[in-house]
Amino acid sequence: MSLGDDGAGPEHTPCSRPPYTILTSPEGLDPGAARRYPWAWQKYLDACANHWMPQEINMERDIALWKSPHGLSEDERRIVKRNLGFFTTADSLAANNIVLGTFRQIRAPECRQYLVRQAFEEAVHTHSYQYIVESLGLDEGEIFNAYREIPAIRDKDAFLLPHIALLTEPGFTTGTPENNARLLRSLIVFAALMEGLFFYVGFAQILALGRRNKMVGAAEQYQYILRDESLHCNFGIDLINQIKREHPELWNAAFQAEIGELVDTAIALECAYASDTMPRGVLSLNASQMHEYVRYIANRRCRQLGLAERAPGAENPFPWMSEMLDLKKEKNFFETRVTEYRSGGLRWDE
Ligand code: FE
Repeated sequence: MSLGDDGAGPEHTPCSRPPYTILTSPEGLDPGAARRYPWAWQKYLDACANHWMPQEINMERDIALWKSPHGLSEDERRIVKRNLGFFTTADSLAANNIVLGTFRQIRAPECRQYLVRQAFEEAVHTHSYQYIVESLGLDEGEIFNAYREIPAIRDKDAFLLPHIALLTEPGFTTGTPENNARLLRSLIVFAALMEGLFFYVGFAQILALGRRNKMVGAAEQYQYILRDESLHCNFGIDLINQIKREHPELWNAAFQAEIGELVDTAIALECAYASDTMPRGVLSLNASQMHEYVRYIANRRCRQLGLAERAPGAENPFPWMSEMLDLKKEKNFFETRVTEYRSGGLRWDE
């Protein structure tokens, strides 16, 4: 279309499409209209400003340390292997859930825009664990079968799966109060309890190694993964709270009580995982500090969801974890990076 004779440019016709909600689909993407949920679009932009790839992080120091007979204690090696065992399965599960489940149920285009980016990031994380396993020459069977063989990992996955798999069932659709509630429950388990709680013992352990100048390449990658996952969790919580606003009948006392019980179970499972991964004190950390950290993070998730805290009084034993999220401040913290990544103007919250 050319400019009109008056030079005023083409006429803009107002968008005639009906307004959409999180769970109802507009007919195709209208770039102008796809801003109903600016928090979703902003998170898409924030995520894209933080692109990184595992193979750009140098693993030479990790390899030398891992191969040296006295480089790491057995307890430190256990932490690395347990973490890789849990995270490889969890991030593959996350990618599948987004692509085959959440994306189908969440219709708002700006939310879908973010979900596509999130799914890619889950694939990057899986790539990252694979890169670490390969670099260190670990027994792939041992790592990739941990979800079947290590009870503390198996129990976490067994808790998550029924809730998460629901969204990938071919016949599942929203639209009835019962199914809307099932969707909301699934999103809470995925964002607040899996991404927002079950990852945090592992993050704290690997980053504690990095802070002691051990496994710095793996720690650098976990630092990026922590930053991505923090955004995933916060997007999920925004999504959950938007669904609550649009469907207030779902957020009733019985539902809230049920979510509270799920949070309690998740706390117990993550504490059991902490105990299994740290049978003795290691890296100046011990399992009971980890348990306190789990309770502290769980309280934060409850507040974000609008629930009463499940472990009132829990305090953060690891204030340094918030520094790990601030990559600008801690630029080159582990000095392993060969590429400078943009960190954007982000405000991070664990
Ligand atoms: Fe994630």
